[in-house]
Amino acid sequence: MLSLQNVNAYYGRIQALRDVSLDVAEGEIVAVIGPNGAGKTTLMNVISGMVTVNSGAVVFDGTDITGVSTERIVRSGISQVPERRQIFSAMSVVDNLMLGAYHRYRREGKAQIEKDLGSVFGIFPRLQARAKQRAGTLSGGEQQMLALGRAWMARPRLLLMDEPSLGLAPLLVKEILSVSGELREQGTTILVVEQNARAVLELADRAYVMESGQVVLEGSADDLAADERVQRVYLGEIPARAREMVSHQRGAEGEK
Ligand code: ATP
Repeated sequence: MLSLQNVNAYYGRIQALRDVSLDVAEGEIVAVIGPNGAGKTTLMNVISGMVTVNSGAVVFDGTDITGVSTERIVRSGISQVPERRQIFSAMSVVDNLMLGAYHRYRREGKAQIEKDLGSVFGIFPRLQARAKQRAGTLSGGEQQMLALGRAWMARPRLLLMDEPSLGLAPLLVKEILSVSGELREQGTTILVVEQNARAVLELADRAYVMESGQVVLEGSADDLAADERVQRVYLGEIPARAREMVSHQRGAEGEK
């Protein structure tokens, strides 16, 4: 469905993406993990047309969308949940949600959009209870739900999620990420960027690890979760071999 081919992107003279190639097949949840500054947000913004590609190509559904405007990219079926949410704080919850569907009004009519609003409220009952509340007064977790709901109102075929767990309590992280599973069941393909590698690797089918603007590892989420380097750097775990060494050493000390 989505294919990035040797994409390079710069901010002035700083190269943020280096020869990045990545594929997402229809129906998959694909994760991108990596440290701060690795280029993950830039990758998302390149796909949604908000950052210019210097060389390489972004292909969606067989069409080259490199250099296409964000508005046309949204119309073609890609919707982004930006990092730090970027909701319209002075507007109500329901108006924020309706804005997500603005480009669908003419084609699909109000009834369909109101039906979708109902399904967002079904997924996030908390948003329904706060429908008239100013979005800026929502809690961080509720704002994340709103950002996700708004992206969903665009009825995307491909949903880009940038750090959905940012600043959320562990329980809420689970809730937000489990919604991704639900959205996938409803036919949405998902590309998700996360620093919370543990949570996202449990959810994703495949994953890419980015460092310094490059893809340094890729594979099934299970393989990456089992990878020693990923465990050490991203999951904060002591790898099995080191664990063995420690217990061996402790055993030796016990023998003394
Ligand atoms: P984080 O996990 O901290 O959000 P990230 O992996 O999403 O990081 P990016 O935000 O894509 O990383 O940034 C990649 C690099 O590009 C960083 O070195 C960053 O400082 C730089 N960068 C990002 N946006 C800009 C900008 N608008 N102007 C100049 N440099 C930028």
